[in-house]
Amino acid sequence: MLVTLSRILKIAEANNCAVGSFNTPNQTSIKAVIAAAEELNQPVILMHAQVHEEMGLCKMEEIAPIMLFYADRAKVPVCVHLDHGESLDYINQGLKLGFSSVMYDGSTLDKEINYANTCVAVETAAKYGASVEAEIGSMGARESGAGGSDESIYTDPDDAKAFTENTGIDALACAFGTAHGIYLKQPKLDFARLEKINSLVDVPLVMHGGSGVSTDDYKKVIELGIRKINYYTYMAKAGGTAAENLSDKTFFHDIEVAAMNGMKEDVKKAIKVFAGM
Ligand SMILES: [Zn+2]
Repeated sequence: MLVTLSRILKIAEANNCAVGSFNTPNQTSIKAVIAAAEELNQPVILMHAQVHEEMGLCKMEEIAPIMLFYADRAKVPVCVHLDHGESLDYINQGLKLGFSSVMYDGSTLDKEINYANTCVAVETAAKYGASVEAEIGSMGARESGAGGSDESIYTDPDDAKAFTENTGIDALACAFGTAHGIYLKQPKLDFARLEKINSLVDVPLVMHGGSGVSTDDYKKVIELGIRKINYYTYMAKAGGTAAENLSDKTFFHDIEVAAMNGMKEDVKKAIKVFAGM
């Protein structure tokens, strides 16, 4: 069933765990994620990221109805979330299409503009009964795996408190050492910073760049208040590897089924860790 981000994060809060949030740029990945969540009887978040449109994958208006189709019919709570919406126009478009949650990402903008735009996003989403995630501090380069090591762009705990209280957001994405894409070396997470943010901020916290973090580090960040973990890179790699390992790659439908099963198994592994199973 389709639910909002607020609703799904309440479940995570009650269970002291995190909900896995997976980018699903095509029907194959949507089916893989939903099947994994249903097999484990766990809530899950499907995400559409603007960056995938630039890779030649589905546009938001193509993929949103398919995400909503599977979310509505799922046996577990599913949030359909817009990941890293970088303009208010794009957010509005997402809300009109029926996303139950949106992330407004103004983290690369001037702080005051990020504040103002986040407030507008919260007001607009409220009209649709949808939730809002926003970010302060920056994860660095989008999906390139390059950023995330410069502490000056990590989330400042006092800023996080003021930003959350003044904007009325439902979840806060914070930067404390993770990055998008594949890590070139093992990430070093700033747990003390996360602990401070968690002690000051009242809403659930979100970790982006979840692929490649060790199981111990996942456990630690969940203890410190992370309730949503964005995860895509390793899942996409698992799908690619499964297709590559096929003995006969003649037909695209064989490749698609192998990739779907490969992604499903990887997503199950991730959900188990996030749910503490
Ligand atoms: Zn992200």
